[in-house]
Amino acid sequence: MTEPHAKVVIIGGGPGGYEAALVAAQLGAKVTVVDRDGLGGACVLTDCVPSKTLIATSDMMAALQDASALGLRSDSAGGSGFATVDAPRVYARVKALAQAQSADVASRLAAEGVEIVAGSGRLAGPRTVAVGDTQLDADVVLVSTGARPRMLPGAEPDGKRILTCRQVYDLDELPEELIVVGSGTTGAEFASAYQALGSQVTLVSSRDRVLPQEDADAAAVVEEVFRRRGMTVLGRSRAISAKRSGDGVEVALKDGRTVRGSHCLLTVGMVPNTGGLGLEEAGIVLDGQGFIPVDRVSRTHAAGVYAAGDCTGVMMLASVAAMQGRIAMWHALGEAVQPLNLSHVAATIFTEPEIATVGVSQQAVTSGEIDAQAVKLPLATNARAKMHGFRDGFVKLFARRSSGTMLGGVVVAPEASELILGVSLAVEQHLTVDEMAHTFAVYPSLTGSITEAARRLMRPAESG
Ligand SMILES: Cc1cc2nc3c(=O)[nH]c(=O)nc-3n(C[C@H](O)[C@H](O)[C@H](O)COP(=O)(O)OP(=O)(O)OC[C@H]3O[C@@H](n4cnc5c(N)ncnc54)[C@H](O)[C@@H]3O)c2cc1C
Repeated sequence: MTEPHAKVVIIGGGPGGYEAALVAAQLGAKVTVVDRDGLGGACVLTDCVPSKTLIATSDMMAALQDASALGLRSDSAGGSGFATVDAPRVYARVKALAQAQSADVASRLAAEGVEIVAGSGRLAGPRTVAVGDTQLDADVVLVSTGARPRMLPGAEPDGKRILTCRQVYDLDELPEELIVVGSGTTGAEFASAYQALGSQVTLVSSRDRVLPQEDADAAAVVEEVFRRRGMTVLGRSRAISAKRSGDGVEVALKDGRTVRGSHCLLTVGMVPNTGGLGLEEAGIVLDGQGFIPVDRVSRTHAAGVYAAGDCTGVMMLASVAAMQGRIAMWHALGEAVQPLNLSHVAATIFTEPEIATVGVSQQAVTSGEIDAQAVKLPLATNARAKMHGFRDGFVKLFARRSSGTMLGGVVVAPEASELILGVSLAVEQHLTVDEMAHTFAVYPSLTGSITEAARRLMRPAESG
């Protein structure tokens, strides 16, 4: 049953916080969001939205670089290519778009009657949030304060040559020689984007391949594309420091080598914003890395205090943060709620080509943890891919061996983020490979490879 006038106070206005606010307002609660940096959070202002806006430009450049293969000829004098990057305009567009998106979030919250308080919030008692001298009483508190880039001792960012992923948009030029330290999702995305924009990129990875947490086949395709396009990928190379040197930077590696470039971008993980929030005083014991432990309905150890998003360390994605926030409100306000299920989360790495995944992993299948059969179809044989000149990528599907139920998939392709939805639906709805195989795909289309992969997994009817 809904409590019509429950008072909800949310600390942090990112996707974890603002999506929760919308649900709570819909359920009739009196909702206040306290945010110190701007609505939409780091997601909208510094992380997802800016990076994907930059990538929209770099994708366009990558397409133009391949344009001659599709029969286009550059008319520019000297034939230097189809476009050059106007870095100040690119960055201005990124920042304006982020601000506009933040303003949209603010308007939406205002339209739903959510009160916004600008400032830093902290728990000042079991059911009280303090913002400066103001005390806000609450029946329910949601902490969704996000995370910030992890620092590497010996590589302090100066915002000019040594940068975090949040500082690149303040540059007034394109880095000529960019050293990206870290080859996880953020490192790979920025390396891919800047390479396409025209920087000479060196990617420093402490592991033996890029994207070590991802599907190995998918990571291998992306690494191959990186190298073919001229990126230097240094595997098994741990950076121990980054220092200014003349008008460039010098990154020292643990094995004694040094790498020189004009700029260095540090992408070595994120740490939670959980200090100084009064959490311990409220009875919340942080985990070893400073994250707030929560259960699958986003409850913390303290009664009436919920937490959502990056500050919980649960799969650090905007979509997961938003779902945790909504679930918290449904639970707190007495609605029927399904606990968070992470096994069906669709995620994308926005490299070029993109890697989109959902459901079980190849590793779980190979290790025998899941009894599934897999099929992998290269995109190179897909007619539409040929027309566009795409040759890197594949579709991989996993289905339960006994029943043929779809368990997951990996798509490596341009705009794989858009193509994965069909696989997500199949996994979520427990469709079988037969049902997938009987679904019409447009001809010619990249999605045709998804239905074809399903056909390859169909089992012949047993005879007799
Ligand atoms: C470069 C990059 C690209 C990314 N791209 C994607 C992507 O494409 N897709 C995706 O799903 N995820 C992406 N992510 C992850 C995504 O940004 C996060 O998972 C998401 O922002 C988490 O949302 P949140 O609400 O937990 O926190 P945030 O978005 O970080 O918002 C937290 C808010 O709380 C505020 N705050 C903190 N402390 C206080 C306080 N004491 N009082 C008041 N306010 C406070 C902060 O200022 C901030 O506004 C990316 C991350 C990075 C670093």
